[in-house]
Amino acid sequence: MKTYALTGGATGIGAAIKARLLKAGHRVISVDIKDADIIADLSTPDGRELAINSTREIADSGLDGLITCAGLASHVPNRALITQVNYFGCIALVNGLKDLVSKKQGKILLIASNSAPGGTAEDFLNLLLDNKEDEAAHRASELEGQQVYAGTKRAVVRWMRRQVPELARMGININALAPGFTDTPMTQAVAQDPTYGEAIRQFAASIPLGRAGQPDDMADAAEFLLSDKANFITGSTLFIDGGHDAVFRPDAI
Ligand code: NAD
Repeated sequence: MKTYALTGGATGIGAAIKARLLKAGHRVISVDIKDADIIADLSTPDGRELAINSTREIADSGLDGLITCAGLASHVPNRALITQVNYFGCIALVNGLKDLVSKKQGKILLIASNSAPGGTAEDFLNLLLDNKEDEAAHRASELEGQQVYAGTKRAVVRWMRRQVPELARMGININALAPGFTDTPMTQAVAQDPTYGEAIRQFAASIPLGRAGQPDDMADAAEFLLSDKANFITGSTLFIDGGHDAVFRPDAI
């Protein structure tokens, strides 16, 4: 039995990953604002500290893996909140728990998005990567929701790549999953949104494989990246999007 910590496991993709790990006989310590072992608001420094300290109390002998899945979509009107949860809530947990993952030579998986390469503001991206939370939150309030969402997810992926050498020395693999449009409470909420609803429905209809992703598609990939079969994979971003990224960026390599 392995022990994993997982943020955002209450619904959607995180819930599917949690169910998959539990089914395989592992222990999952879930952190979320609702329906979790540790109730913590990852948008605030206090909430992150609570999440880290409580996880440390439960898993003092180490973690075989950490999965950061908590996130907010582009339709959330409070752009600062998207920034605080999607980026700062993610990297704080990695920084605060990586020594526990090192104890078990474990794996870290960040849930990014296939929106990560999408349009954003370069100065916003730099504020995120320079760890200037208050300034980034302020700048986010001047941007469109999709720019903020894409920016937070691109920053997560860039930050992940920058951690590779240090984490490798600690015996940790770190990777990102980039889901495409997936049928979850998050996208169901966006589909109801008067501003974004129609666009998101058209977006979903253009997926080459002809269907939306399901949370179990993401759990399949997560299970692989957390397993021993992925021992030589680190610093990678796996797009699970039915081919959408290949259509958007056919010459990206
Ligand atoms: P979801 O809304 O079902 O799940 C998000 C989870 O994050 C929920 O359990 C929620 O309670 C939790 N959360 C939100 N704010 C929080 C906070 N302040 N503190 C702690 N937990 C908080 O959405 P989902 O679609 O399953 O998304 C999961 C992840 O996948 C997100 O990071 C999202 O950006 C990413 N993603 C989703 C899609 C998609 O199409 N659904 C596509 C690409 C990436």
